[in-house]
Amino acid sequence: MKTAVFSARRYDKSMLADANRDAGHELVFFEDRLSAATAPLAAGCEAVCVFVNDSVDAEVLAILATQGTRLVATRSTGYNQIDTAAAAQHGIAVVRVTDYSPYSVAEFAVGLLLAVNRKIARASARTRDGNFDLEGLMGFDLHGKTVGVIGTGKIGAIFARIMLGFGCTVLGYDPYPSAAFEALGARYVPVGELLSRSDVVSLHCPLTEQTRHIVNGDSLARAKRGSVLINTSRGGLIDTEAAIGALKTGQLGGLAIDVYEQEANLFFQDLSSTIICDDVIQRLVSFPNVIVTGHQAFFTVEAIGQIMQTTIASLTAFERGEELVNRVPPA
Ligand code: NAD
Repeated sequence: MKTAVFSARRYDKSMLADANRDAGHELVFFEDRLSAATAPLAAGCEAVCVFVNDSVDAEVLAILATQGTRLVATRSTGYNQIDTAAAAQHGIAVVRVTDYSPYSVAEFAVGLLLAVNRKIARASARTRDGNFDLEGLMGFDLHGKTVGVIGTGKIGAIFARIMLGFGCTVLGYDPYPSAAFEALGARYVPVGELLSRSDVVSLHCPLTEQTRHIVNGDSLARAKRGSVLINTSRGGLIDTEAAIGALKTGQLGGLAIDVYEQEANLFFQDLSSTIICDDVIQRLVSFPNVIVTGHQAFFTVEAIGQIMQTTIASLTAFERGEELVNRVPPA
């Protein structure tokens, strides 16, 4: 099946091509992001394959539909970049990758926590410069601390299990509590209690209308003073300006994010030789107690391999008229 693959980086091209070896779909790669301006590139493609920062809104879907696209396959778990109601109106099916190494993201969240708490990136930068001074590098033991997990699905549960292994008390908040999470030895509490008791809060819920800015000025004011916030989920979960305000007063003791509200124009590209006009991200990276990574929590050999295999399997199932096991239900 002819498929236009947008936001295709070198690793996307090689690993998707590998996964496609037996299936034989006709893959057409574009490095550009999908948008109303680039949608015409997909003319004649029955399927379009996208990533997290492609824009698959009503305008783009209308263009794709008139050009013959019948399937949108996102190489991600989250699908907040896709207007699923508009897709349904145009008779376009949407598939995602529901299951790929949740360990990749959970382990990265733990890595961010250790890095921001123990100042590992700062220390490494110092020693490269011949500076072996410890001033400013003191962290705290995670053992015995309380960790709050917002969103206790696949990734949140693995993150919780690792933190329990560190000797932490783990609190969870999720509108759909799971017995498996409690069986780990964690405990559900209301979100307000989670914020006020946790030394560390890690976000693992999807971005929806209900969760947009779940971390805002009010919730930060209710949080334990000096607590550390980790976000590997979606940038829109945090009101970034409010987080900057809380960092300035010390209410927020540290912030480590792999995702950023306005990441679409920044991430997945080398901007090191350009002037970055986003003053919010520039302010964020200027804090000594903030770590920003460019949406790489999923980026392991295992996870990418599974993402590509699942995406190709979805294309094949669609072409054959078989059930789409990873179909996103219309909104
Ligand atoms: P999942 O569906 O297994 O779990 C999500 C959990 O969030 C569910 O238990 C759900 O009930 C809960 N939830 C829904 N609304 C909530 C709310 N209002 N408050 C609290 N919890 C709520 O998903 P997952 O596989 O664990 O992935 C979680 C998120 O991680 C994805 O939605 C995606 O945004 C993000 N993610 C990021 C990366 C990355 O590379 N940074 C990679 C994969 C996934």
